[in-house]
Amino acid sequence: MIARFLTALLLAVLLTAPAQAADRGRRLVLVTLDGLHWTELFRGADPERAADPAAVAADQRQAIRRAFVEPADRARALMPFLNEVVAREGVLIGDRDHGSCAAVGNAMWFSYPGYNEILTGKPDPAIKSNTHGPNANVSFLAWLNRQPGFAGRVEAVGSWRTFRDILGAPGSGLPVNAGWEDAPTRTPAEAAIARLQAGSARIWPEVRLDTFTQAYALELLKRRKPRVLYVAYGETDDFAHEGRYDQVLWAAQRADRFVGELWKALQADPAYAGRTTLIVTTDHGRGTNGKQAWRHHGKPFAESDQVWIGALGPDVAKGAQPEGCASSSQIAATGLAALGVDWRAFDPAAGTPLDILKPRKP
Ligand SMILES: [Zn+2]
Repeated sequence: MIARFLTALLLAVLLTAPAQAADRGRRLVLVTLDGLHWTELFRGADPERAADPAAVAADQRQAIRRAFVEPADRARALMPFLNEVVAREGVLIGDRDHGSCAAVGNAMWFSYPGYNEILTGKPDPAIKSNTHGPNANVSFLAWLNRQPGFAGRVEAVGSWRTFRDILGAPGSGLPVNAGWEDAPTRTPAEAAIARLQAGSARIWPEVRLDTFTQAYALELLKRRKPRVLYVAYGETDDFAHEGRYDQVLWAAQRADRFVGELWKALQADPAYAGRTTLIVTTDHGRGTNGKQAWRHHGKPFAESDQVWIGALGPDVAKGAQPEGCASSSQIAATGLAALGVDWRAFDPAAGTPLDILKPRKP
C-alpha cells in the first residue's frame, strides 16, 4: 500500500517537474522615469528652487517646504524606495557627489534617442527628433519576444504614446500599451482602469497620467505574468518643461512609490519572488547652465546627458559600482544577462553588461 502510494507520488512529481522547470527562469522588470535629473534623486528637492515663486505655485509652497525641504534627509523624503531599498539592497549608480557616474551615449540628450539607446543597446545618430516615427532598430524587448521561453511573454506599458514608435509596435509583435488612446479592457480591472482613464483630465495629449500606466502594469503582473515587463512613467519630464517644480516633486515621489509597489507585487507573487531583476533608470538629465535650465534638456543644456541607473534582485551584487562612467547603452545587455540570456546573440555591438551582476555558473 505504502509502496503504491510512493510510486504514485513519485510519478506525480516526475510529471509536474518539467512544467515547473520550464517556468523557473529569471524574470525582468525595467522601469524608466522620464527626464528625472540625478540631483533630485540623490540630493532631494533643491531648496532654492522650491522657494522660487516662478517655479512653485503659491498654494503649493507650504506643502512643498514641509514635504521635501524641511526633512533632514531630503533625498529620502522625495524618493524613499530608490534611496533606501534599491541603494541599500541593490545598486544605485550616478551620484556624482560621491564619485559615481552615469550618462547617455547619444549626442541628443532627449527622449526618443535616449529610449532607443536604453532599449537597443546603442545610440543611433539617425534619430534626431521625438517625431522620428517608427523605429527601424529592434529593441531587446521585441527580440526577446521571439526567443524560446520568452515568446508572447514580454509586455510594455508607458505613459508617452511615442513608445508605440520607439518599440516598433505593432510591426515587432511586441504588445505595447502607451498613451491615452491605448485602453485595453481584457479583464474587469482593466475595464475599470479604462473607464477612469477616459474620464480623466488630459493635461498633455501625448502623455497619459502615470497613475493609469501604473494601474495597467500592476494588472498585467497579476493576470498575464509576463517574464519581461517594461514600465515607462512620463510626468516628471512634462511638469519640468512647464516650469512646475512643485508638480515635478510630487510626480517624482509618486513614481518612486509606484516602483516600490511593483517591487512589493513581485515579492508577493511566487511567479516572480526571488528570481526577478528590477532595473530603474531615466532617458536623460536636465540642464544646469542657468536658473531656468532645469526645465529643459538637449545639447544646449549643459549636463543634461547625466543620468542614473538602479538595479535590485537576486543576481545584483549589493552595493556594486562599475568602474568609470556607466552608460545607458549598457542597460539592454545588463537586462539580458540578468535573465541568463546571451546578450551577444541579441547584438554583439550593444553596450556590455554593467559590472553589477554576481558571477553565475553557465
Ligand atoms: Zn523632455
